[in-house]
This record gives sequence, structure tokens and C-alpha cells, in this order.
Amino acid sequence: MSRTPIIAGNWKMFKTVSEAQSFFAEVKGKAEVEGVEAVICAPYTNLPALVEAAKGTSIAIGAQNVHFEDNGAFTGEISGGMLNELGVTYVIIGHSERRAYFAESDEIVNKKVHAAFRHGLTPIVCVGEKLEEREAGATKEVCKVQTEAAFEGLSREQAAAVVIAYEPIWAIGTGKSSTSEDAQDVIGYIRGIVAGLYDDATASAVRIQYGGSVKPNNVAEYMGQADIDGALVGGASLEPASYIALIEGAK
Ligand code: PGA
Repeated sequence: MSRTPIIAGNWKMFKTVSEAQSFFAEVKGKAEVEGVEAVICAPYTNLPALVEAAKGTSIAIGAQNVHFEDNGAFTGEISGGMLNELGVTYVIIGHSERRAYFAESDEIVNKKVHAAFRHGLTPIVCVGEKLEEREAGATKEVCKVQTEAAFEGLSREQAAAVVIAYEPIWAIGTGKSSTSEDAQDVIGYIRGIVAGLYDDATASAVRIQYGGSVKPNNVAEYMGQADIDGALVGGASLEPASYIALIEGAK
């Protein structure tokens, strides 16, 4: 089964609306490469302007979080329906920064994955180990627990549509990227977990990204690995030239 590579920029808490608009004007056309899906996951405030700017382009717009309820007394939160109405199509769920700073548990991540599907959003589900877990030899066990929890209760069709981002936490924003062989080893293992939960066809449909200090100069190396279908990129997605180079490097 051939999987379309997907490069998603995760802007985190960077860029005002006007900054997002000038970024988009620079990447439009250039970050649209045949055979590679380009996504920008931006702060909530930028989403209406980016969706508008992206009309008629092949660049998809994503959010970085979503609440698991459809509405209610949850001050400061945003629901899947609100994102869907804007024209947002992707949402990052369970990023390690949200797990660490906003206490998102595996159970919450799973509820958010279901919320994404209820509202027609494709979840980009982040899994990955801390440095001490890697050093203790627990990398695969951590990824297994997180992946199984995230997929709990999903139909086969939903499971096949999930994008997983394997992000070793020690590699995020540190410049210390995982070797492409190590990333392949874990990502191949994660694909096997999905096969165990569902079947081989579902596992071979799921796209699995690597994330953690991906740059224009190393993206092709990751893409050369059999099970790596793209990248979730923080720092290197913030500059137009670098974002364009990442998309081109994923061809
Ligand atoms: P980084 O971030 O590319 O800056 O390491 C990746 C991420 O947090 O998704």
C-alpha cells in the first residue's frame, strides 16, 4: 500500500495573524509539491486567516489541540465542531508538551481522538518516550501503551485514517535528533502494534511520522526509511524557506 508522505509544521505558540499571513504568502505555490501532503498546525487565533489563505491550494490547515467534549462549561477550550466549521482538517493530539504541561493523560488523548473523528478532523497523535525511559530500555513499551490507549474504541476505518507522530521527547527542540535507523526501528514497531490491534491492511494504511529536530538537511534521510511517512516539525517549520525545503525534501 502506498502512503502519501505528510509533513506537518507545528508552530506551537508562535506567530500572530499578520505573521501567519505573510508566512503563507511566501510558501504558497512553493510548498505545494506533487506527492507530498503539506500541513500547517497553527495557534487557534491564526486558523480563520490561514484557512482563507489556503483556499485553492493543496496546503491543509490544522489545530494543535481540541477539547474532547462537543461544548460545555470549559472556559478557554475549543471544540472539534468549532474547528470543523472553520475548515480546519487536522488536529495534533497528545503532543508531549501538552502531556507534560497540561496533564493530558492517555485517557484524555483517546477522548480527544474520538472527538476529532466526530467532527471530521484527522488526528495527528503524538507518542514517544522521555530520555530516562529510553535509557531504561522502555522506549517500545512506552510507545505501545500510548498507541494502544490512543486507538481504544476506534473502528478499523478510523484507525486507518490516523496519523501517528513518533516523537522521542529528548529530541524535541534540542537539536539531538534520533538516528533514522532508530526512528525506523520504533516506527516499524508501532506499525506492528496497529497490526496487532486491527490487521495488516489497517497497519499499512496508517501514516507514521517521525518528529524531533527534523530539519531540511535530515528530512530526506528519515523519508528514506521504509516505515517513516513524514515528519512533524517544530522549529524548522517557522521560516518559509525552511518549511518549503522540508516539503521538497520529503519527495
Ligand atoms: P522540533 O519540534 O522540530 O522543534 O524538535 C517537534 C515537535 O515538537 O513537534
